[in-house]
Amino acid sequence: MTPSEVPKFVVPGEYIGAAEEFVPGPGTYEHGGRIFSSLVGIPTIDPSDRTVRVAGTNSVPTLSEGDVVYARVDELKSAMAICTILSTTESRRGFPGEPEGTVHISKVKDGYTESLTTELAVGDILVAKVLQAHPSIKLTTAPSTLGVISARCQVCHGLMVIGDKGLNCPRCGNREQRKLAQGPRPSVLPS
Ligand SMILES: [Zn+2]
Repeated sequence: MTPSEVPKFVVPGEYIGAAEEFVPGPGTYEHGGRIFSSLVGIPTIDPSDRTVRVAGTNSVPTLSEGDVVYARVDELKSAMAICTILSTTESRRGFPGEPEGTVHISKVKDGYTESLTTELAVGDILVAKVLQAHPSIKLTTAPSTLGVISARCQVCHGLMVIGDKGLNCPRCGNREQRKLAQGPRPSVLPS
């Protein structure tokens, strides 16, 4: 294993490299001939003596570009929706601090969108992809598989039922439109 093959970021208990190749340094421990990280952080290797150490970081990186996440719409502005990122769809791993992400009106669907209010609403749960993770989180719901997976009725706040031609509220009969995610839906939604 060369230094470039050492993981860029590790969590406690994560394998870094073999003890025959590296010397365990601060932030690591050796077990059974293997070196593991004892911290959340970034491993570095001293080329002079092959000591590997992990410099701890205070915060776990939350998201990366390309991640697909569940997000709840908190506020609609004229040009963007402000959302709370709930978890990734893969691991359902939640994020500390409930990071905020935004969907710009140009990224909510393909083509021109005149108003966000026909695509998203406060309280909706989205599946969205991370376009940019730093310094602010920017999301897109434009691909067909992305968009709203759970919607609240804007009249009575009941859960809407997704039909062939949009959304129906079984409680009050209200009909609404959203940019819906197409395809199979997860059986368990984040709360
Ligand atoms: Zn309703």
